[in-house]
Amino acid sequence: MSGNRNGIPNVSAIIADTRIPFPHTEQPLRCRTTPDLFAIEDIHDTDEEPRGREKALAKATHACSGCPVVTGCLKWALANPELTKAGVWAATTLRERTRLRKQLVGRLGDDWVGVVAEQDRRRRERQRAARVLPPTVRELVLARLELEGIPTRPAPYNRWKEPITPAQAASNRRVLELVASGKAA
Ligand code: SF4
Repeated sequence: MSGNRNGIPNVSAIIADTRIPFPHTEQPLRCRTTPDLFAIEDIHDTDEEPRGREKALAKATHACSGCPVVTGCLKWALANPELTKAGVWAATTLRERTRLRKQLVGRLGDDWVGVVAEQDRRRRERQRAARVLPPTVRELVLARLELEGIPTRPAPYNRWKEPITPAQAASNRRVLELVASGKAA
């Protein structure tokens, strides 16, 4: 295979596209522990095993389907055609990867790698922002003290239960004076 399945090419002249790095994981990947399983180009049908390649492809695809980094692996493989010219990557064959790349160019343009990398960057930012930590005890105490410091708004005046205000008394006097002087209707 052209790549060593670590995101680092074996071929020194070919540099991996750094915009979509190979996903990091601490878990063992089947393609690293049993790389032969994924080298389906080397597997040919024989008289004893007429459907050998098909079976090998099914095994590799099955291994990828349980992989924790399958989505990132697929993006990396598509972004690095020179490093994935053979073998199964993220359950895809070379022909399928070529078809997927054409679809991506059709949908996102020639710089589809840049577009996907930018989408990934924004998603990571959103995920970081969404990770809201619960307030600490100190923050809760401070918030309560702050609330206690805010003067409470007086309850609205209820003219049926409370004595009239000086302003209302003055207003009433003005009305009475107008009535007394005969100017009010
Ligand atoms: S998806 Fe398959 S090829 Fe990709 S890292 Fe996982 S096991 Fe390897």
